[in-house]
Amino acid sequence: YDFASGRVLPTVYERTTAAALHHGAVNLGQGFPDRDGPRWLTDAAAEAITDPDVGPTNQYAPGTGLPVLRAAVADAHRARYGVELDPVDQVMITTGATEGITAAILAFAEPGSEVLTFEPHYDSYGACAALAGAELIGVPLRGPDFRPDVEALEAAVTERTSLILLNTPHNPTGTVFSAEELRRIVDIARRHGLRIMCDEVYEHLVFEDAAHQHQTILAVPGADEVAVAVGSAGKSFSVTGWKVGWVTGSARLLNQVRGVKQFLSFSSGPAYQWAVAQGLRDDHGFFAANVAELAAGRDLLRAGLADVGLRPHRAEAGYFVVADIREITDLPGPAFCDLLVRRAGVAAIPVSALTIQHRASLDDELQHLVRFAFCKDPATLEEAVRRLRTHL
Ligand code: PMP
Ligand code: GLN
Repeated sequence: YDFASGRVLPTVYERTTAAALHHGAVNLGQGFPDRDGPRWLTDAAAEAITDPDVGPTNQYAPGTGLPVLRAAVADAHRARYGVELDPVDQVMITTGATEGITAAILAFAEPGSEVLTFEPHYDSYGACAALAGAELIGVPLRGPDFRPDVEALEAAVTERTSLILLNTPHNPTGTVFSAEELRRIVDIARRHGLRIMCDEVYEHLVFEDAAHQHQTILAVPGADEVAVAVGSAGKSFSVTGWKVGWVTGSARLLNQVRGVKQFLSFSSGPAYQWAVAQGLRDDHGFFAANVAELAAGRDLLRAGLADVGLRPHRAEAGYFVVADIREITDLPGPAFCDLLVRRAGVAAIPVSALTIQHRASLDDELQHLVRFAFCKDPATLEEAVRRLRTHL
């Protein structure tokens, strides 16, 4: 959305998917799995809708979410991260992680203030900062490792800064922030009186060869004074259409986020919430199997990209691999993606579209990086690789 002109522009994901359809391309643009989550989970949602014994699941859920799901999220935090949360006032269910992110930004970004994030970043951060009347300021993540430069982050803090937006594991680079990096960022926030929203939607999608396993920011001592974390059932269970997410944190901060969330969606689908609660209680081995499948897809795609001279970076987590295109073209990322979808029949997203105001003037490597999604069936990835080999 261009606030100045009032024009509504489709998001980069929608544009890429439309172009893929138009050109009959393999769509490695928008990040959604082409295989649904496990059958027992979708069965649970169906059961929740039709079985009266489950309870009322076809009318408004409580605004903060079904108690059974809040309890399951709290239990999962204890089991996975050793973090204690009160399910009554330290867990709030949202309509996808997207709503949690929106509500947190609107709650914490003061009008006229600056909001810091690492670039590239998830596209809704910039739009939500603008909705809050704040300005998003980017600190670049640099290859080849895309580790967060914590000193550069602190150097970007001004007296106008109100909020830091983190995303770990990171879309699109796959970087998993270390416990030490998170500790230092929490320390910055505490010293400068800032809030943190930490987007952890890929928490369950970390590969075994990652430099670090995921740790929620809430496990950092003292983080609960400044930070809330956001999670997504869509990402965790490969059901992105369900739009169930959660925000966790201290009762004081969550109360502020809740004050905004109640006027966004008010509440969201109870049947999906009930099913997700079952999945968090017992994933039937899904998380491990999903990570193994995603890692195989990543390896297949990375090898194919390397073969045609698109230099893939490491992807430690999530759905995406970013590749440097400079070896085979002088074109900037957006023009190359345009060519790729037309000539090779493969859709991908220029990483510059995930930077502040889609900066065309980025002088550095972000301009020459392209994001490919590997959360696809092996046959789909093989077809994409075949097309790249034939047409590039
Ligand atoms: N944050 C990041 C980093 C994402 O990649 C996405 C997209 N899946 C979201 C948030 C949105 O999550 P949800 O679909 O649960 O709203
Ligand atoms: N999170 C997905 C991605 O990064 C897409 C989400 C969307 O389409 N808004 O590709």
